[in-house]
Amino acid sequence: MEFEQFCNFLPKIELHAHLNGSLSATSLQKLGCSNEEISEYQKLAELQATEKTLNECFKLFKVAHNATKNPQAVYLATKYVIEDFYNDNVAYLELRTTPREEENMSRVEYIESVVKAIEDCDKKIIVKLLLSIDRSNNLKVEENMEVIIKMKEKYPHVIKGVDFSGNPYVGGFNPKLFQKARDSGLFVTLHCAEIKNDKEVEEILKFRPDRIGHGTFLLSNDHIWKLYLDTNIPLECCLTSNVACGTTKSYKEHHLQEWIKNSLPFTLCTDDKGVFGTTLSKELVLACQYFSLKPTDLWDMTLKTISYTFASDEEKTFLTTTLQDWKMKNHF
Ligand SMILES: [Zn+2]
Repeated sequence: MEFEQFCNFLPKIELHAHLNGSLSATSLQKLGCSNEEISEYQKLAELQATEKTLNECFKLFKVAHNATKNPQAVYLATKYVIEDFYNDNVAYLELRTTPREEENMSRVEYIESVVKAIEDCDKKIIVKLLLSIDRSNNLKVEENMEVIIKMKEKYPHVIKGVDFSGNPYVGGFNPKLFQKARDSGLFVTLHCAEIKNDKEVEEILKFRPDRIGHGTFLLSNDHIWKLYLDTNIPLECCLTSNVACGTTKSYKEHHLQEWIKNSLPFTLCTDDKGVFGTTLSKELVLACQYFSLKPTDLWDMTLKTISYTFASDEEKTFLTTTLQDWKMKNHF
C-alpha cells in the first residue's frame, strides 16, 4: 500500500476539531454563503504562514459563524462536518464547539441542534461532543458553564467534555470554573501554551486537565517543561494549524519532535480543517514527512490515542478491535 493511501485508509481518531472551523468551502456554499465570502475564506486559508498572525486567523471564523446562525443551519453544519471526517476514514470523532446565542437561537437550541445531528448520524463513525468556554467572553463564562453542565445531564451519551478555547491574547484560565465541570463528570481538555504565557500555563498544568491542545510554548521555559513532564498529559498536536497561524515557524521546527524523541503522549489533530485546508490523513502524512514516522508508528499512535479519548470502555474496546482487524487485513 502506498504511504498516502495508508494514511487515508487507516481508521483514524480525531480529538481536536472545532465545528465551525471544520466547515469546508462546499459545506459553506450549501449553507448559503456567498461566493464572495467563500473566496475570502479560501484566500485566507491559502495564505502562507509568514503572512498570518494568530489574531488574523481568528477573523476567519466569522465567515463560518455567519453561516450557522439558526438551529437548522447548525444541524446541517454538524452533519456536513461529520460526513467529511467519515469520508476521511475517521472512526471516532470528538467535535468541539462554543454554544452561541444568536437573534433566532438560544445556547440550548444551539447545543441541541448539534446533539441531534450527532444522534441522527447513520454513518459508521462514533461522534462525541465537547462544549467550549470561550476565553474572550469573560462576562458570561459562569453562566455558559452552567448551561453546559445542564446539557451534559440531559445528553450524557453525547456530551463528554469541556474545552477552553478562543483568542489566547484575551481572558484567562479559571481553575474553579473547570473544577465544576470535572465535579459534574465532564472530562476537561484545555488549549494551553498557544502563546507564551507562563503564569497561565503553570495554573493549567497544576489543574491537570485530561488533555491539552497545542502546547506550543511548553518548551520555552525549563520550569514549565519540567512541570509538564511530571504530568505526562496527552497533547493534541495540530501541525498545519500551528504553522499556518505562525505560532510555530515551520514543520521542521515543530515541537512535536520533542514528544516523539521523549516518547511523550500525543495525537495528531486537524483543529480547523476548513480554515487551514487540511484533513486528518494529511496531518498524518506531514508527521511522517517531517519526523520520519513509519506506518507502524502511526498505527501505534492511533492505538494509544484510544486511551486518550473520552469514549466509554465499550467504545474503546470496539475501536481497538477495529484497528487490530484493519492491521490483520492489510498485512503490515
Ligand atoms: Zn483549537
